[in-house]
Amino acid sequence: MVRGAALKCFLLLVLTAFILSCGGREAADGKIEVVVTIPPQAEFVERVGGERVAVTVMVPPGANLHTYEPTPSQLTTLARAEMYAKVGSGIEFELAWMDKLTAVNAEMLVVDCSRGVEMEEVAGKQALDPHIWMSPRNAKIMVQNIYQGLVRVDPDGREYYRQNLARYLGELSQLDQEIRDRLSGVTSRRFMVYHPAFGYFAREYNLTMLPIEAEGKEPTAAGLARLIEQAKEEGIKVIFAEPQFNPQSAQVIAEAIGGRVVLVDPLARDYVASLRRLAEELAQAMK
Ligand code: ZN
Repeated sequence: MVRGAALKCFLLLVLTAFILSCGGREAADGKIEVVVTIPPQAEFVERVGGERVAVTVMVPPGANLHTYEPTPSQLTTLARAEMYAKVGSGIEFELAWMDKLTAVNAEMLVVDCSRGVEMEEVAGKQALDPHIWMSPRNAKIMVQNIYQGLVRVDPDGREYYRQNLARYLGELSQLDQEIRDRLSGVTSRRFMVYHPAFGYFAREYNLTMLPIEAEGKEPTAAGLARLIEQAKEEGIKVIFAEPQFNPQSAQVIAEAIGGRVVLVDPLARDYVASLRRLAEELAQAMK
């Protein structure tokens, strides 16, 4: 009966949010309220929206975007938001919650950040990889979608948004070039990671990602043994893991190969800086 109880609880939250929303849709300080699903999108919205916007992130830092559920205070914010920027690539949080979230606030503009992004398959699987933001090229498309949404909900800010957009797109292009340069001299181009969130990054920079997690679960003992063998053969010394996942198997592999686990966060809020850190960690691990 967990499902039924959750539904009742959710309906109560919706009612509360609705009552609160009758007080007006703008934030107290007159800023445009924008809700996003993941922390990297907060940087996207803030860099384009600047001082005209206030951003709320649904799946907070450290939370697992495959299982997270929104809180009452997030729903209250949602009820007065003018825009929701969803990732739109099929991440579980949005598949499970998007319909319910838009039901809380039917007037809110929903922007699909994935519009125009070329989705790719998870290597060796039929499923599409939802982690689209992990390449600067895709980030640029997502940011442009956000810009168009902001212009629609706040036409007075158009020129301001346009200038911010141009500046941030320039930074993303520069980031892309920096990563390319940093990884150009790397001889071994294969890396092992717990949860396969870096597929778009790997493809963009001609790297091969070897995931430890299989079908969203810890590998079996046999799978683990195979991965250890593979890591040894490939001369892998660093196992990457995300703070959102329990890297127990990552630790086991690292110990077996005499290497170490490095935490990298695909959901970091400081997007440009975190991708720069990721490229640096990879370059050092694969040299
Ligand atoms: Zn993921």
